[in-house]
Amino acid sequence: MARSLLSRLILSLAAGEILALALSQYLQIPYAKAMVATAILAIVALASFVLSLRPLTELFLNLSTALKAGNKPSDLLLKELGELGNALAVAWERWEKTFAELKEERVLLTAILERMAEGVIAADEHGNVLLINSAAAQMFRLPLDWSNRRVTELALPFGLLELVQRTIKLGTPQFGEVQLLHPEERFLDAYATPLIADGKRIGVLLVARDLTELKRLERIRRDFVANVSHELRTPIATLRSLTEALLMGGKDDPEVRDKFLQAIADEAERMGKLLDNLLELARLEAGRREWRWQNVSVSDCVAQVAERFKPFAERKGLKLTVRTEPDLTVRTDPEALAQILSNLLDNAVKYTERGEIAVVAERLETADGVWVAVHVRDTGIGIPPEHLPRIFERFYRVDKARSRQQGGFGLGLSIAKHLAESLGGKITVQSEVGKGSIFTVWLPLSKLE
Ligand code: ADP
Repeated sequence: MARSLLSRLILSLAAGEILALALSQYLQIPYAKAMVATAILAIVALASFVLSLRPLTELFLNLSTALKAGNKPSDLLLKELGELGNALAVAWERWEKTFAELKEERVLLTAILERMAEGVIAADEHGNVLLINSAAAQMFRLPLDWSNRRVTELALPFGLLELVQRTIKLGTPQFGEVQLLHPEERFLDAYATPLIADGKRIGVLLVARDLTELKRLERIRRDFVANVSHELRTPIATLRSLTEALLMGGKDDPEVRDKFLQAIADEAERMGKLLDNLLELARLEAGRREWRWQNVSVSDCVAQVAERFKPFAERKGLKLTVRTEPDLTVRTDPEALAQILSNLLDNAVKYTERGEIAVVAERLETADGVWVAVHVRDTGIGIPPEHLPRIFERFYRVDKARSRQQGGFGLGLSIAKHLAESLGGKITVQSEVGKGSIFTVWLPLSKLE
C-alpha cells in the first residue's frame, strides 16, 4: 500500500514537471508561473485522491476494531476487503479450528487431572507454579488461587519440597515417602520428575499418593494375625500343660484327672468359640453370609433372646426387664438380629455386677429416617470416653484381663456392628464410667413385604 502510494507520488511529481514545462511552452508564460499552476492542479488532484482513500481507511479501522475485540470481521467487511478479506477468512477459520482443538485437549486434560486421586503439582524451572489439581489442593490444604506463586510459598511438607529441589538440581526423577503429622497423621508416597517438552527441561512435576488408608489396612491385617496368634497361644499353652500334667501321673488321681479333663474341655470350647467368631467375621467381611430377609416381629425376637439370658443375669443377681412397643415389625434377617442382641446382652451381663439390665424397643423418627430402636441398658462398669470410638474394632478391649477372664475375645461388638450395618442399620453407644452403658441397635423401618 505504502509502496503504491510512493510510486503514485513520484509519478505525479514527474507528471507535474512535464505539465509545467508544457504549460510554459504552450501558454508562453514563465516556467515559474506554470509550476504554480501545476502545483494548484496537483493539490486538487491529491485532495481528490485522499478523498478516494477514505473508504479504505474506514475499512481498515473497522477491521482492526473487530480484531482487537476478538470478533470475527463481518462477511460484508471481508468481502469489501477483497483478496485480503479472503485470506483473512481462511486464516480465521484455520485459527478457530486450532483453537477448538486446543480447547478440547485442555478440557480433557483438566478432567483427567481433576479425577485423579493423586495430588499433582507442576512448576516451571524457576519454581513458579504452573498447575495444581484438586487432589493436591485438598491433600495439602493449598490456596485456591495459586497463580503467580512459587512452589516454595505453598507450605508443602518439607520432604516434598526436598524432592522437588533434588529433581531440579539433578534432572532425574526422585522418589520418597513422606509422613505428615498435622492436622492428622498421613503417609504419602511421592515422586518428582523433570518436565520435558521438545527435548528441553521446562520444569518439574510432583505427584503424591495418599497411602494412609492402605497403611491402616496393612496395620489392621498385621494386628489381626498377631491378635489371633495371641488368642490361640494362651489356650494352646494351657492345653499343653494340662495334658502334660495328666501324662506325668495326674491321670492316676481320679480327682485331678476329672478336674484337668474339664479344664481341657473348657479350653477346647473356648477355642471353638474363637474360631466360630473369626469365621463369622470373615464371612461378613467377604460378603459371603447368606441373608434370609423376612418380616420380623422385633418384640418376639427381643423376648426370645432375653429369655435365654435370664438365667445368666439371675445367677449374678441382676434383674433383666424387657419393654417393647406393640406391632414393631421390620423387614430383616431374624438370625442376624438375634445374634446382635445376644452379643449386646452377653456384654451387659458380663460387665455388670449389680443392678439391672433393661431391653427397650421403640419406634423412633430422626432426621435421617424412621427406625425401630432396641436399647440394651445396663448399670455396669461403663466405658471411659477415650475408649468409646474404638470398642467396635476387632479384638479391642478396654480391660484385656477382665474381658479374657469373662471369656471374651473382643470380637462381639465388631460382629454386631457388621451385622447391623448389613441389615441397613447401625449401633450407637452411650456410656458413663461407674454408671452403665446403653447400646442401641437401629433398624430401618422400610416397607414390609
Ligand atoms: P468382649 O468379648 O471383650 O466383650 P466385645 O467386642 O463384645 O468384646 O466388646 C469390646 C469391649 O467393649 C469389651 O472388652 C469391653 O471392654 C467393652 N464393653 C462392651 N460392652 C460393654 C458394656 N456393656 N459395659 C462395659 N464395657 C463394655
